[in-house]
Amino acid sequence: MSIIVQKFGGTSLATSEKILAAAKKAIRVKQRGHQVVMVVSAMGKNTDILVDLAREITDRPQPREMDMLLSTGEQVSVALTAMAMHSLGVKAVSLTGAQIGIKTDSSHTKARIKSISTERIQRLLNEGNIVIAAGFQGIDKDFDITTLGRGGSDTTAVALAAVLQADACEIYTDVDGIYTTDPRLLSEARRVNQISYDEMLELASLGAGVMHSRSIEFAKKYNVPIRVCSSMTDAPGSLIITSPESKQQAVCGATVTIDEARISLLGVPDVPGTSLHIFSLIAGRKITVDMIVQNVGADGRSDISFTVPKSELSAALEAVESAAKEKELGGHELTFDDNVSKVSVVGLGMAHQTGIADRTFHALSDAEINIQMITTSEIKISVLVDRADAEQALRVLHNAFELEKTPADSANLAENANIHRDRTDAAAVVARLQGIDMEELFVDDVTLDDTQARVTINGLPDAPGIAATVFDEVAAANVFVDMIVQSFDGKDGQADLTFTVPRDKLATSMEVANLLAEKMGCDSVTSSPEIAKLSVSGVGLRSHTSVAIRMFRSLSQAGINVDLINTSEVRVNIIVEGIHSQKALACLQTAFEDVLR
Ligand code: ASP
Ligand code: MG
Repeated sequence: MSIIVQKFGGTSLATSEKILAAAKKAIRVKQRGHQVVMVVSAMGKNTDILVDLAREITDRPQPREMDMLLSTGEQVSVALTAMAMHSLGVKAVSLTGAQIGIKTDSSHTKARIKSISTERIQRLLNEGNIVIAAGFQGIDKDFDITTLGRGGSDTTAVALAAVLQADACEIYTDVDGIYTTDPRLLSEARRVNQISYDEMLELASLGAGVMHSRSIEFAKKYNVPIRVCSSMTDAPGSLIITSPESKQQAVCGATVTIDEARISLLGVPDVPGTSLHIFSLIAGRKITVDMIVQNVGADGRSDISFTVPKSELSAALEAVESAAKEKELGGHELTFDDNVSKVSVVGLGMAHQTGIADRTFHALSDAEINIQMITTSEIKISVLVDRADAEQALRVLHNAFELEKTPADSANLAENANIHRDRTDAAAVVARLQGIDMEELFVDDVTLDDTQARVTINGLPDAPGIAATVFDEVAAANVFVDMIVQSFDGKDGQADLTFTVPRDKLATSMEVANLLAEKMGCDSVTSSPEIAKLSVSGVGLRSHTSVAIRMFRSLSQAGINVDLINTSEVRVNIIVEGIHSQKALACLQTAFEDVLR
């Protein structure tokens, strides 16, 4: 029989009336002939209230006790929801995470799911019950209660849908779907009919708050279709599946991370192992780094800049300082800026369309917004801007990509309503991933692209419109640009811009770059005729901070210097000198052997 998992968030369960309404929604699905598993969050703001209570007692509650405390919120909800079902004459049983058999690791307050047993749930369902499962919680090897991190009920729901081989997972929440950007920031934001797992992963990790990002990792790994909809209405909501909403539209959404900070280490030795050393100390403190930009070295020295959430700036600075102390980085200078925001556009279609980066830079240039740093990957373009420009930047990008308009080829809603998981496929995925920790890092490919060359313009004026001008000229010369990074140069009012092009276009690109450099009075243009781009793709590449470190470590042990890096949720790209291509590929294949599936 088909199984539907329905998850209800805190606002949808805030009062006893709402609990009854949620119970009725689940009962209707059962009456249509499905087996139903309900996953519930704590009522209303109960988790926040519990957090505040703990803080009243101590500044530093032990994580184990925090989990003991916070898990009670969901326990209240399951019991009341079961009672609601009973009062409506429907058979239902409530279960805590431990009773279901959701086994996690022991990292309290941010535990990862290792395995879930399905026997008990399946038996209860077969006996005609609606099963009401507590979200957000599990149990570790010592039978201690753990929680999955704030917002973790989504992850419980999708993980249950995965192992139960459910037909679909419905997430009922206080918004009616996924939007092209945060509608509270931009009123023209549009609800999308459909979005791909990869796009949703990027948006969620960039702070689009609708879904817990680890739930999307499960959905992608196990191929679980998710419908996000409002518990107040019967509107169809948004569907999260493999394919994007539109084949024509390259960009599906835009985000802003208002409170970001930049850290730069200027003039560090340009030798293998420098980045490894710095980033492993930062990762050791569980700080997530983004927008890593490493200048291509001059005179054996290079500059490394990256961004971190502003709230983690001081911890990151400490880590960098201790990195510098431990290893003689010699003559370097450390600078930071905590007055910056990161604005990104995301879309699967970017990889196949030209001019997306150029359109991004133009929109910002027309609004006279200065771009401080740029990183691009196959699925997103991020720029760092002054915080004062952040909301305006988001607006002009949303506008430039016409995100407020439903694409002409947008998936048909009625068709969408019938999307269900393929049974054979579901069983096959579950069988294939059997015995592997469910949230273990998942790498599906390590690849080499040795068809590209690099161009770098050093000492560009750091003013609005520069990137737009450069890529206009490059596009006019018919050159398809792949990776773009613009770094913070350190010298006042200057930036370095690096991009990669097909090898046979290097000469043309250099002509263009030299002309531009002359016109703008830049220091120099350098290039490398043969570079190798190595990519690791999979799921959870950023939430497992160890991925970039693994890449750095294995290459540094082989004496290979990393020139450029960019990261996204589903792919990490590294550029090294072309002569190392085969050796670097072999290194990375070995480094990820144990998680290659
Ligand atoms: N109740 C938990 C929280 O507020 C889990 C959830 O709602 O998803 O974070
Ligand atoms: Mg939530």
